[in-house]
Amino acid sequence: MSDMPEILPELVVQNLARDFFNSRDLYMDMAEAYGTPLYLVAPAVLREKADRFRAAFSRHLPETGFYYAMKSNNLPYISGALLAQGFGLDVSSGMELAVALELGAKDIIFSGPGKTEEELRMAVENRHRVTLLLDSAGELARLQSLGAGCSPPLRVGIRVNVTPQGLWRKFGVLAGDLPEMYRRIDGCAGLTFCGLQFHSSWNLNPERQAAAIRLMGENLKTLPPGMIEALEFLDIGGGYWPPQGEWLVSDQPLVHHYHRAESIDTFAREISHAVKEWIFPVKTCRICFEPGRWICNDAMHLLIRVVDQKAPDLVITDAGTNAVGWERFETDYFPVLNLTRPSLTERACHVLGALCTPHDVWGYAVHGEAVDEGDILMIPNQGAYTWSLRQEFIKPLPRVVLLEGKGRLLG
Ligand SMILES: *Cc1c(COP(=O)(O)O)cnc(C)c1O
Repeated sequence: MSDMPEILPELVVQNLARDFFNSRDLYMDMAEAYGTPLYLVAPAVLREKADRFRAAFSRHLPETGFYYAMKSNNLPYISGALLAQGFGLDVSSGMELAVALELGAKDIIFSGPGKTEEELRMAVENRHRVTLLLDSAGELARLQSLGAGCSPPLRVGIRVNVTPQGLWRKFGVLAGDLPEMYRRIDGCAGLTFCGLQFHSSWNLNPERQAAAIRLMGENLKTLPPGMIEALEFLDIGGGYWPPQGEWLVSDQPLVHHYHRAESIDTFAREISHAVKEWIFPVKTCRICFEPGRWICNDAMHLLIRVVDQKAPDLVITDAGTNAVGWERFETDYFPVLNLTRPSLTERACHVLGALCTPHDVWGYAVHGEAVDEGDILMIPNQGAYTWSLRQEFIKPLPRVVLLEGKGRLLG
């Protein structure tokens, strides 16, 4: 992976714009029926992504498990849709666990640092549906005082830290501490050890995950035989970048940059190869996945409306970046599609939100013949880490509608 981004080909953006303009009537109808600003959820995309992800990996591996990382989009409908596709759920807090339980999830992975006593108690109480991934020896001690003696026992795994430098050192336990952790779990009647996990994020290609798998394989060889025998799964986390790559703004409004990302088939091939080379010779076990961004990125879009045209190249919209949760579009590029006056030609224009901050940016260009007051604009592919991070700041939050039939308000 090179650190220098490439120029994003105009044709790539035009193809995406064309796809969305082709369904323009549907989106305009939603804006008409439900008003703006609006989040749109595309259930067909979710189903397609879930099936595609699973197919890519299960082609190569004998036994797999797929868990949607709820934090990437915590709209309950989305977790529910993935449950219906046969995914389990990966939750990172008691709050997320409560949603997963409410949705009827039967196979839940609970990972994350700093679990409170209340969260640990919730996992123990729901142990027929939850596998808890321990984040530290201290957490194990707290769990032991809560879970000792419970029957059937709570299934626990351990998160392993494969990046002990920098801020990622906060996650999991070091490989050297695994034998002692296992000894203590094994000595506790209320707990049963069943797996190991690691996770790295923001992977544009499978190199880092493959290197971590190799490291895990080397660690496995040093573990006590009882621990290897008890090992049912290796969970290799999430962090798969969507295939379109990472799109970035440049210092020119009509030039965009990007980092390439590999296809999920390439991830599946390389990762499975590493698993067969480094893990299976020690233990043939189930390989679990926790994709978030890759699954939900393309399954949610934003519709906003131009409220005020202050200059031919400066418009204010009825939604602000509070709908996104952070100043994403100062660095990330997404096309702004003018559904009212569609064009595959992009024109320079400052598209800004209505919040009282200059960082309230949607983009520096619009795909459209022009932009005028009342125009409906679409920002596609806002499914990952947008809904979950939205915040009540100054302006109300958009409503959310399911793109099915005539649409349906969610929540
Ligand atoms: C955030 C997270 C994920 C999902 O990451 P994505 O980049 O959205 O795929 C999976 N597992 C764990 C433990 C996480 O913290």
